[in-house]
Amino acid sequence: MKADQRVLISGGGPVGLFCALLLGRQGIPVRLFDVNDELQADPRAATTHPATLEVLGKAGLVEDMARVGLTAPLFQFWDRPSRELVAQFDLALLAKDTAYPYVIQCEQFKTSKILMSRLIDMPNVEILFGHELTGIEQKSDRVTASVRTKTGEEKHDGSYLIGADGGRSTVRKQAEIAFEGFTWAERFLVLTTTFDFNARLGYSYRNYFADPDEWCNCFKVAADGPPGLWRTVFPADANASEADLMSDEAVHARLQKFFPGETYDIVHRNLYTIHQRVASTFRKGRVLLAGDSAHLNNSIGGMGLNGGLQDAENLAEKLTQVLNGGPDNLLDLYSLQRRTVSIEFVQAQSIANKKQLETREPVARKQTLDDLARTAADPVKAREYLLRSSMLSMQTRAAAITLNEAA
Ligand SMILES: Cc1cc2nc3c(=O)[nH]c(=O)nc-3n(C[C@H](O)[C@H](O)[C@H](O)COP(=O)(O)OP(=O)(O)OC[C@H]3O[C@@H](n4cnc5c(N)ncnc54)[C@H](O)[C@@H]3O)c2cc1C
Repeated sequence: MKADQRVLISGGGPVGLFCALLLGRQGIPVRLFDVNDELQADPRAATTHPATLEVLGKAGLVEDMARVGLTAPLFQFWDRPSRELVAQFDLALLAKDTAYPYVIQCEQFKTSKILMSRLIDMPNVEILFGHELTGIEQKSDRVTASVRTKTGEEKHDGSYLIGADGGRSTVRKQAEIAFEGFTWAERFLVLTTTFDFNARLGYSYRNYFADPDEWCNCFKVAADGPPGLWRTVFPADANASEADLMSDEAVHARLQKFFPGETYDIVHRNLYTIHQRVASTFRKGRVLLAGDSAHLNNSIGGMGLNGGLQDAENLAEKLTQVLNGGPDNLLDLYSLQRRTVSIEFVQAQSIANKKQLETREPVARKQTLDDLARTAADPVKAREYLLRSSMLSMQTRAAAITLNEAA
């Protein structure tokens, strides 16, 4: 592979790093830029679904993730006002469908560290921190990235540029690719506590609470090792100020109101603006988008990073073929496959997940919870539900999409 076939990547989050690893292992020269001086200590994603574990398993990463994360086959839905368990799903039902009938709760900074540990010794992969991509220029045979460093401006040529630079992607904006969709009025407040919801209240490692007044998600993560930490996610009033929402008084009152009568040690508090958006294309000439730069969704169901890692595998495989003389329209196929499933599955499912928890109207609410209970109680229906929530059916659908669908 010649140096002029070098692939540039903007963004050293988990998606950019995974692209770099997969391309680097094919002997392709890769140069990755990240604006930060080191890997982000990012607490956002944790849940890694079976479909993504299959992708990461092929790359030899799952054992390390399991070692530093938590393996969780079960998840539960609760009716918060009555405090009743509505439904429990066991991913073991997928034992014949996947080698990974569970999720691994692995915080995304740990996934990034694992990826970095593999990249560090690869002579054909350069990881350049403190490099901010500021502009792009496309020619028929190359793409040029303008990059700002502490010592000045630089230009870097590549055969292709992957924008894995997150939701505010400079690459996407520079390529003038629309980011279609909407932003939710409410934000999501994440409070992380040492309180052990499993030991005290019997919750599984992944819990969804339906509540017409204030839904909640509650998850366990391994953190620095036993006993681990629990993350709670709540909707935050669109009109309240960040200072009010994040004050000691407010965050303690929030946990007390939801899970009364306990004492909570809150170790992190984060507030996120939440979007449902998909780029109008994941490919424009020599520019390709993957991960959050291509799609954003609310975090209920934990699908954002999963989708991004799946993009990375799909893209790396096709880009390798193109660089080895394969047809250029494989990159159009990448865009079509990943954009279609992003809309049909991740957008649709994450919006439905949110609605399931927040529905207020009593008849519709009862219907939703009854449906969930019936689905969980019926092994055939539960398997279908799990194939979707674990993103396995999404991957099957993506693989079946051909360019004829675009016609
Ligand atoms: C509360 C919350 C919980 C979540 N939970 C889950 C979950 O359980 N499961 C799941 O799948 N997803 C989850 N997500 C979504 C997940 O966090 C994102 O999908 C994921 O971070 C996307 O990874 P990425 O590599 O595409 O982008 P990012 O992680 O945003 O990385 C982008 C990188 O690009 C760099 N960058 C940006 N601009 C430039 C530039 N101009 N030049 C150079 N570098 C640049 C940044 O420094 C950063 O390192 C959650 C999100 C939130 C908010």
